[in-house]
Amino acid sequence: MRSLEQFKIDLKALTDEVTPVAYELDDQFFAALDEVEIKQGSLHVSGSIRKAVGFYELQLDIDGTVKVTCDRCLDMMDQPIATDLELVVKLGDEYSEQDELIVVDENEAMLDLSWFIYEQIALAVPIQHVHQPGDCNDAMMRVLEEHSAARSSDADAKEDIDPRWNALRELKIEN
Ligand SMILES: [Zn+2]
Repeated sequence: MRSLEQFKIDLKALTDEVTPVAYELDDQFFAALDEVEIKQGSLHVSGSIRKAVGFYELQLDIDGTVKVTCDRCLDMMDQPIATDLELVVKLGDEYSEQDELIVVDENEAMLDLSWFIYEQIALAVPIQHVHQPGDCNDAMMRVLEEHSAARSSDADAKEDIDPRWNALRELKIEN
């Protein structure tokens, strides 16, 4: 597992007024964070951190794709992501976050960007995500359609569980 060390910015070590920031995020990034929503992706992050008087200003563009489950056929799909992250960072007595203002403990003066970047990507994933028309898993779609037809004709269905799980179970049996 790759370390997330590279995402830690030592604020006191920033000498220039503007420091470029760039990362390539891959599956290892998501594996290292070990979050639930997004496990895989490929994204380019670039921007800069600007040192001002009394604060730092971070601006990052985030572009690429993440892998999420299609709501319709349950296969994995590439969800394009194009978003940006803007933060104002100050040094203070203790760590705090309020909207886009981050206060970092002045003794450490370390800003860990990994979580902020992840969170911004997760926010950019639309609530509904489905394949482009025609790209869904045909076999799965047929099974799902048969099941929803069977269910609607069977008003006395005993098992009140998500029909998609039944469909999944049948696929497993077939294999
Ligand atoms: Zn699909």
